[in-house]
Amino acid sequence: MKGARDPKAPVLQEQLRTPVDGEYDVIVAGGGASGLIAAVAAARAGARTLLLEHAGCLGGTGTYAMVAQWLGFYNGDTRVVGGLPLELTRRVQALGGSDGFARYVLAEASARPIPLVNFPFNPEVVKIACDRFARDAGVHVRLHSRVVAPVMDGPAVRGVVVEDVGGRRAFLSRVVVDATGDAIVGAASGAAFEGGEEELRRRRQPCTLVFRLSNVDVARFRALPREEKRALALEGVDAGRIFWESLSFCSTPGNTDAICLMSRIPGIDALDAVDLGRAEMEGRAQVHSIVDFLRERVPGFERSTLASIAAHVGVRETRRIRGRHALTEADIVGGRRFADAIALGAGPMDLHEAGGTGISLWMPEHAFEIPLACLLPEATPGLVVTGRAISATRSANGGSRHMGTAMALGEASGVLAAAAAQQGVEAAQIDAEQVRATLRRHGALVALEDLQPERSNETTALNA
Ligand SMILES: Cc1cc2nc3c(=O)[nH]c(=O)nc-3n(C[C@H](O)[C@H](O)[C@H](O)COP(=O)(O)OP(=O)(O)OC[C@H]3O[C@@H](n4cnc5c(N)ncnc54)[C@H](O)[C@@H]3O)c2cc1C
Repeated sequence: MKGARDPKAPVLQEQLRTPVDGEYDVIVAGGGASGLIAAVAAARAGARTLLLEHAGCLGGTGTYAMVAQWLGFYNGDTRVVGGLPLELTRRVQALGGSDGFARYVLAEASARPIPLVNFPFNPEVVKIACDRFARDAGVHVRLHSRVVAPVMDGPAVRGVVVEDVGGRRAFLSRVVVDATGDAIVGAASGAAFEGGEEELRRRRQPCTLVFRLSNVDVARFRALPREEKRALALEGVDAGRIFWESLSFCSTPGNTDAICLMSRIPGIDALDAVDLGRAEMEGRAQVHSIVDFLRERVPGFERSTLASIAAHVGVRETRRIRGRHALTEADIVGGRRFADAIALGAGPMDLHEAGGTGISLWMPEHAFEIPLACLLPEATPGLVVTGRAISATRSANGGSRHMGTAMALGEASGVLAAAAAQQGVEAAQIDAEQVRATLRRHGALVALEDLQPERSNETTALNA
């Protein structure tokens, strides 16, 4: 049975007494790519900031779903993200969690591989770096805390209700930043969103359960000619032993581990718990089959061992908030300029086929601006939305959801939320120029004129 609600099912009327456990200037719901950075930005701006995360670690899809490479920092050789996200990459490197930015070929065994610059990392080290980043900024962090409802004051969001191992509690704030990726606060507060349509729910982009293999000869695999990788991938797909035409993996420092993004679970609505559970189980069955195939057929993987499977299946697509501007593919391709630009996207444009084994993957020719208006729901005071759920069309979301971009959006949302809380006004009343000036002071790149093509001594030789 699917988890979607039957309108005719009996209803249990509950009376809840929820203690209010604290009051903050800014609450950030979700401690992933965008939420961690939003919270650090707000706290550094002097706002009392609470970060609520339902997993046991920060970092979001990058850590608990083990998607172990940050994309979106570079378009070609030009770095388009600075500020706090760049600081986090340096912290991760200082802890030995990455060798730094590197040249990489995305989906190398697919029909349309894309050379780009990524930041591959060891997700376990990133968890530690995220803890320290939040702590050093003075963010109040509560892990294992699931945000279940907004606290409403008329049409305005003024806090959230959380469920944790100790029960249910509420926290109040002037501004809530929804960084859950699924627009959990936004949808529950009645804000309009895209992506809930029944028809679309059945054809979302597939989920991927990431797994990690140890004892891999990464260099040997990387050295294979592309045609050989492609032939192996197609052989595996034809035999039903692997599930899409890519042998995509990232590697950690030391080049002995492969963190594999190779499973592909279609037909999942990740807003439905029954579907999500099915994705985990189908994902594990796929992992078993893929590991078998890699060991048997793919050079470099002969002696590999399954080290871990991500704690949570990776979800590419759920809701997107309906905001004051919806970023479009035409905005991206046309290089549209926005007076309220607060972050830059790099691409790639990355849309996986709902069924099938294909992917639409291409790099925009240049970086693109994302306006502040994409973070502001049409008509919900007290709420700022950031990360994957910002206001964008489905295809534009394929280019704006990468973690480097999500982090840049996170920094902008944190600065905006802190300013609104401190000035006692709504986020929509804050002058975008004030946000842009603060971001720029902190090294963020907010508009195309901030770019300087880098002869990247930041990138290392090849294929980390
Ligand atoms: C399989 C896959 C491969 C991808 N490949 C790449 C890649 O190679 N490089 C790249 O840069 N991007 C990649 N992406 C995209 C990227 O990971 C996400 O789009 C990005 O993480 C979005 O950032 P976010 O902050 O919006 O969400 P997330 O990073 O997902 O963080 C959301 C956080 O909110 C928390 N949360 C959710 N609901 C609640 C709640 N109710 N209460 C409390 N906390 C909550 C979650 O636990 C999570 O920590 C990939 C995504 C997937 C699924």
